[in-house]
Amino acid sequence: MINITIPEYVKKALLILQKNGYEAYPVGGCVRDSLMGKAPYDWDITTSALPDEMKKVFCDCRVIETGIQHGTLTVFSQEGSPSLEITTFRTDGDYEDHRHPQHVLFTNSLHEDLSRRDFTINAMALGKDIVDPFGGFKDLAEKVIRCVGEPEKRFEEDALRILRALRFASVLGFSIEAETAKAMEKKKQLLLHIAPERIYSEWKKMLCGQAAVQVLRRYISVIGQFLPELLPMCGFLQYNPHHCYDVWEHSLHAVENTPPCFTFRMAALFHDVGKPDTFFRDADGIGHFYGHARKSAEKVTHILDRLRADNAAKEKIEFLVANHGLSLPPEEILLKKRLRKFGEEAVHDLFIIQRADASALANPEEKYRELDCAEQIFNKILQEKQCFSLKDLMVTGEDLKAYMSPGPEMGKLLSFLLEKVMEGTCANEKSSLLSAAQKWLQERGRKID
Ligand code: ATP
Ligand code: MG
Repeated sequence: MINITIPEYVKKALLILQKNGYEAYPVGGCVRDSLMGKAPYDWDITTSALPDEMKKVFCDCRVIETGIQHGTLTVFSQEGSPSLEITTFRTDGDYEDHRHPQHVLFTNSLHEDLSRRDFTINAMALGKDIVDPFGGFKDLAEKVIRCVGEPEKRFEEDALRILRALRFASVLGFSIEAETAKAMEKKKQLLLHIAPERIYSEWKKMLCGQAAVQVLRRYISVIGQFLPELLPMCGFLQYNPHHCYDVWEHSLHAVENTPPCFTFRMAALFHDVGKPDTFFRDADGIGHFYGHARKSAEKVTHILDRLRADNAAKEKIEFLVANHGLSLPPEEILLKKRLRKFGEEAVHDLFIIQRADASALANPEEKYRELDCAEQIFNKILQEKQCFSLKDLMVTGEDLKAYMSPGPEMGKLLSFLLEKVMEGTCANEKSSLLSAAQKWLQERGRKID
């Protein structure tokens, strides 16, 4: 027997509709997630009530007419409860631009409403029993993404479904049924009709899914439709003893070894995208890629602009890609210099991306040992709250005002003092620092009062 807990605010909305003589069911993602034992992100209800009828029965609740022309009302059924999207049973009219139905037709058939939905696992409703006309329950158990109806037709109507299939496959770790997969390949060009913002939002979820690498490997020809920069990486041999994979497989291994976080995964996937452009073989036939990190960063910037990525994500990804090869040696002074230049979070993130890169080498052990050692020192610097920035220095410009007026010279002096502390040649305490400052000024022929 299926045991699904429906939250009180959802039950209340269902009851209001049913008491007024309408059919009403939780539908789509919330049913799918509940059946998988996961807490749904949000609950959607489908109903036989028309939008105006809904407005009447929910007249005591706060209601937003979000998508009223498509039959959708956002309802707050209880004080302080999350919002609920309630939509009239509908079928979609003809599609224009491979994305939007020209109009929707309201219907009084739940079955018709379920038949307009994208995949069988998303086309179930929750009544006394599960309403499942397309075999979604079985597909869920077998971990399969399958279009409702004819796949080619469904992707032609709305090409975003191609991306949704990839996203669900990655996030849920499901496979895509053969006919559905074939139609995705066949109709991939229709992705040109999808707005970059929609692509970006699906891509972010896809890349962070549990099966992202499998989906990337299996569906690169579809993904290459909106990320063509990835295609030259496939099969690109490196002719280098450090590498046992082509650029694409190397990058996939790097993605596999990053946490499911978009910025890290993007950086891992694109860190070597500049390699095909910078490749040359020396007299011994060894492959080199000088300047590839810079080139990769340029390319990833271009891609993120095209996808309308937010600046925060863009900056972080660009930084990680551009600096994925930056040396992080197991030496205290050098690491403090990195910390001073980039800050704690950025250096921490570089360790993550460098570890991912190392994992995809022919012999990662040596690089791992070096990174382990460097990271231990890095952690020690932080734990001991060692000084590596001006804000940690025990003298400030204010203290130095007794000797000199503020300006570039003072900046130089502060940097000099910081470096001495970082090297361990001066203690980070006021009196030692002030003596060192006086000496510095004397050496420059400055008179000290
Ligand atoms: P999640 O909310 O976890 O992203 P979801 O399945 O709930 O997944 P929504 O975008 O919230 O996805 O859509 C709710 C439901 O609407 C889906 O379960 C599906 O039945 C239907 N649906 C959404 N987008 C489409 C589409 N492009 N084509 C057909 N049906 C769709
Ligand atoms: Mg949803």
